[in-house]
Amino acid sequence: MDRRTLLKYLSIGVAGTSLTTAVQSLASASGGTAAWGYTGTTGPSNWGSLDPAYAVCGTGTRQSPINVNTTQAIDATPTDFEVNYQSFSPTIKNTGKTIQVDCPSGSTLDLDGKTFNLLQFHFHAPAEHTKNTQLFPMEVHFVNALLDAAGNIVELAVIGVFMEVGSYNAQINKIFNNMPTTSGGTNSPSGVSINPEDILPKPKLDVLGLITEPLKYYRYNGSLTTPPCSEIVNWILYDRPIKISQAQLDQFEALYDNIARPVQSLEGRFVLEDKLT
Ligand SMILES: [Zn+2]
Repeated sequence: MDRRTLLKYLSIGVAGTSLTTAVQSLASASGGTAAWGYTGTTGPSNWGSLDPAYAVCGTGTRQSPINVNTTQAIDATPTDFEVNYQSFSPTIKNTGKTIQVDCPSGSTLDLDGKTFNLLQFHFHAPAEHTKNTQLFPMEVHFVNALLDAAGNIVELAVIGVFMEVGSYNAQINKIFNNMPTTSGGTNSPSGVSINPEDILPKPKLDVLGLITEPLKYYRYNGSLTTPPCSEIVNWILYDRPIKISQAQLDQFEALYDNIARPVQSLEGRFVLEDKLT
């Protein structure tokens, strides 16, 4: 599948409207309709042959997730990277594949001089990426899209954050405490406001507000980790995990505990390392 075809598949119109259409388009970005899952004959090893629109899942050379070998990551020249997310009252959706929160317009991510719009964020259990082959129990993905003047998705920037078991996480609780239990279910809890930026790890500061520990992140070019596995993603993986309690992990795993694509071959790609200061 060439890039032009991909862009056609991803083509949507949202100009002058909310990002809802873009979110829905992303969910069915391929034009492919074949059912897929995480086990058995429709599992990840067969995605590429389930539907012609999913072919790149099997034949691609920039597939995600990957294992990040931090000792081989290349120091990048400092890049323009800034998250500017806004608070909103979330609607929490059980898609049948994950728990997802669609985001209203107004939350943006600046990367390499381009402004991406936050479309949605969702969870995987276990994590998809690994760090030095370490597998974390969960990973959250913040999906940001660069739109052209007509509102078509040009490329994506996805922030991946590992989640490990430690202390209770009040921000994550806003989602996990309100997850619909059945596929297709939605829940808009009253009185709940969330800013996705509050979920992200931050550089560590001392009492004077000076940075004592910058936040490292890794960048590489990859794909969607679900069909159609389109190779249009600027991946940004934060080095430091966020923490959730064991009870919160149990809460999520009661709904989903095997929604992760295995790591894919690096195929000669480089991983860059940079830090937020
Ligand atoms: Zn994901």
